[in-house]
Amino acid sequence: MFREKLISIRKIIKNSFTYENSSKSRIVYGPVLSRRLGYVIGINNIKSKFCSYNCVYCPEGQSKQCSVCIDHCISPYEIYMAVRTKLEELEKSGKSVKYLVINGRGEPTLDSGLSKTIQLLREFGLKIAVFTNSSLIWDNNVQQNLMCADYVSLKLDTVIEDTWYKINRPPRRLDFNAILNGIKEFSEKYQGHLSTATTFIKDMNDNQFEINALADFLKEVKCESSCFMTPRYPASDKNAESPDEEKLQQLQSLLKERIINPLLLCCPENEVFDVTGDFEDEFLGLLSIHPIQVSAVRNYIRSDEDLEKLKNLIEENFIKEIIQDDKKYYAIEDKKRTVSMRMQI
Ligand code: SF4
Repeated sequence: MFREKLISIRKIIKNSFTYENSSKSRIVYGPVLSRRLGYVIGINNIKSKFCSYNCVYCPEGQSKQCSVCIDHCISPYEIYMAVRTKLEELEKSGKSVKYLVINGRGEPTLDSGLSKTIQLLREFGLKIAVFTNSSLIWDNNVQQNLMCADYVSLKLDTVIEDTWYKINRPPRRLDFNAILNGIKEFSEKYQGHLSTATTFIKDMNDNQFEINALADFLKEVKCESSCFMTPRYPASDKNAESPDEEKLQQLQSLLKERIINPLLLCCPENEVFDVTGDFEDEFLGLLSIHPIQVSAVRNYIRSDEDLEKLKNLIEENFIKEIIQDDKKYYAIEDKKRTVSMRMQI
């Protein structure tokens, strides 16, 4: 019954939805090489940067914080069409991915239509992952939405409340204990692959006290792996630095000792991504999520025409070069201007 309903909804969408290709780039990006899942297509289900956190290491800059609401989310049908177009392009280019990852420009669980989006995306036969910041995991509706995914990654940078305020900078109305209890509760019920994700920030959560407390907490969480990483992109707060190499080595030994199945993703790696449609739209779409290393952009350039477009974006001040940790990145110069002019949001 439900399946028949879904098929008829899809028919309606295919027949009635006028889909602008330029919309696709603000909803889907990639394929990109995920540190955990291999090549994936990324999906953004939030219209702008609405997040329940305002992390020091966020590459997106300051959040426009809000609570659970549907007003700032992209409709499941629009997402479905964008993914469909992207996968058609991918097929033509002879590439493939295993996962669709909902992990966009804000917090994906702010979208109350998340389970509907996941159900529509099932048509493509790919696994579906959601990367959440866990802030709303205490909410039963959010848990129900996440149940539909094959892989859920729960952000857990710390189990110490003071550190949580320093790193994730949540609004005061969020209750830290409710979040920790929600993580445990969800892990009991969830049937898919559950993973936690911790980002190490120098002088904040990179010490033995933090790791011991986290390890004790994780003993009560039924997850298959715990991922540990360092900030990958220039952060919104310049003081949010990665621990140095020596410290990371110490942390790695400690993690192996104290935590079951830790995945250490701290080591720098080259960012790998690809373009399947229009270079300019897709490049700006990805840049609207996070800055991209200048050295990695060469993977994006397929022709002299693409190179010319890149030069124009720089000359016209749509994008700029920034430097962090001796690495050069491209970032959007003026998001408002770029988004409105190039992507017609
Ligand atoms: S890093 Fe993620 S959770 Fe933190 S503010 Fe940015 S989008 Fe939100």
